[in-house]
Amino acid sequence: MLKIHSLTLGPAITNTYIIANEESNDAAVIDPSWDGHLILEAANKRGWRIANIWLTHAHFDHFGGSAAVADGSSPPPPVALHPSDYRLWRALGGAGDFGLDFDPGPEPTIDFVHGQKIYLGDIEFSIRHAPGHSPGSVIIYCEQEKLAFSGDVVFQGSIGRTDLPLANHETLINSIQEQILTLPEETRLLVGHGPETTVAQERQSNPFLQGLG
Ligand SMILES: [Zn+2]
Ligand SMILES: [Zn+2]
Repeated sequence: MLKIHSLTLGPAITNTYIIANEESNDAAVIDPSWDGHLILEAANKRGWRIANIWLTHAHFDHFGGSAAVADGSSPPPPVALHPSDYRLWRALGGAGDFGLDFDPGPEPTIDFVHGQKIYLGDIEFSIRHAPGHSPGSVIIYCEQEKLAFSGDVVFQGSIGRTDLPLANHETLINSIQEQILTLPEETRLLVGHGPETTVAQERQSNPFLQGLG
């Protein structure tokens, strides 16, 4: 069984998800957005061991807490990211454009690949490449738990920004169509900003997705 604890942190009010396998207490942090000490504290309080850092994409507000999480974990967890976002990661995820500077923490050493299976103990996740908001955006989908960590691809009633460098609106819409709307209707979407939603809800009421499959 998968346990999920979410925190909303940092200058862009970003959702961080700490997920743990209940049997082994192995945990992954999806998007350590900011204030890594608060992420560590929440994991420690639950007896969870952070063994992985998984990034949905490399905007600064999704890994600003990575350094502190890595520093406070033994051994430091490897960081996984789609290679198409390495350039953005090296540019500190655009933080400079917002007048921010921070320690990015350990370099990503695990390449996310479309279709790849990753595991937290016996719980399987699959990686779905969903570019558009950024070139290396991914969705981390857990079929057995009927949920997906979808980063900044789609939000409740909205979609990811495409007015940023390296973003592309048509590519994003295409990704939503192929990587979100093809998931089972009841799939929970745990998004990068704002409240969770479902595939069905966004198909029905998201104004950006009307007329799509
Ligand atoms: Zn983003
Ligand atoms: Zn974001």
